[in-house]
Amino acid sequence: STGSQARQAESEPRGGEQSPGLPRSDLKRVLVTGGAGFLGSHLCELLLRRGHRVTCVDNLQTGSTANLSRFGASNRFTFIERDICETLPASLEVDEIYNLACAASPPRYQADPVHTMMTCVVGTNNILEIAERCGARLVHASTSEVYGDPLQHPQTETYWGNVNPTGPRACYDEGKRAAETLTFDYLRAGRVDARVVRIFNTYGPRMQPDDGRIVSNLICQALAGDAMTLYGTGEQTRSFCYVTDLIAGIVALMEVEPNPEQPVNLGNPGEFTIRELAEVVVRLTGSRSPIAHLPLPQDDPQRRRPDITLARSLLGWEPKVTLVEGLEPTIAWFSGAQSDENREWSG
Ligand code: NAD
Ligand code: UDP
Repeated sequence: STGSQARQAESEPRGGEQSPGLPRSDLKRVLVTGGAGFLGSHLCELLLRRGHRVTCVDNLQTGSTANLSRFGASNRFTFIERDICETLPASLEVDEIYNLACAASPPRYQADPVHTMMTCVVGTNNILEIAERCGARLVHASTSEVYGDPLQHPQTETYWGNVNPTGPRACYDEGKRAAETLTFDYLRAGRVDARVVRIFNTYGPRMQPDDGRIVSNLICQALAGDAMTLYGTGEQTRSFCYVTDLIAGIVALMEVEPNPEQPVNLGNPGEFTIRELAEVVVRLTGSRSPIAHLPLPQDDPQRRRPDITLARSLLGWEPKVTLVEGLEPTIAWFSGAQSDENREWSG
């Protein structure tokens, strides 16, 4: 289980190369696409701590080599700077794949919308082909954005969504929907052993300060004393999951035998308005920043909250970190005061 493996990893010295105690047969060669990004770097860190060999493929579009510096010296870690839309080395042999490559912040994925769609479709197809060739198990990172501006609340996996297929968010929303389609078509054809995780808004240390998503924007603005930007009324809601909870969930998904045609929501059901989030950030930072209202972007979802009944029963998983508990280390990281080492990985 997640807990016992994390405890077994305790004996591993930081950055150490010794086996952390997993049986040799449980040590895997793992490919993480998007591993230099926010979620990907936390995932690489956990996998390395458990003793696995990790290959990260990333084009550094929104990721950063600084995210990799913590474990870059490990002889079990390999970084390949490459776009997943391009051909990957034919010599690549892996047991497991996490496909996380794709810009996730609206201003970032909209900066080159055609590339975003290609990453989702051409890139995911390339990764599915590698999974098929290697016989590797795949976890594909999808998103709550497949539900669009949802008409059902909270969102269950059976809801088909409400997505504008031609608007500025479509490159991501429809790209991610198409990537799910591709994954399930490979799966139904018996070509891959794949699982799809629909990730809801996740935050934590190692987001880029200029990422553009709400949590990093508000914290950086509050710390700098700049105006905190609320788009529209600020009454729209999101549900915020702390990064270590999310990563524990996707690793658990790799390990179980799910009903394969079933995507799985992962997120924290605690739902907040954007205004409430801003108020918590102001309180925790002691900031005197004013609030500035900016126009609401087109097709911005009004409400979002995951129904995690399936994840609870399938994985025995649920998030543990509350919003305040998760914002504290995130604020500390943005203010440069603390290390971002995930001490909870080792118990
Ligand atoms: P991120 O932008 O920090 O990381 C994405 C990484 O993928 C970056 O390192 C980037 O350089 C890399 N990348 C982008 N396009 C690529 C390409 N074509 N080839 C190779 N590398 C490429 O974002 P994140 O928050 O870490 O998101 C990771 C994954 O999780 C994404 O697939 C995203 O859609 C999904 N997701 C994240 C959230 C969230 O709240 N963080 C929510 C839903 C889904
Ligand atoms: N948002 C905001 N100010 C910002 C950035 C975002 O009010 O500086 C709003 C945005 O309009 C959306 C919510 O916060 O309603 C979450 O935005 P984010 O880009 O983090 O994620 P997504 O919309 O993809 O869930």
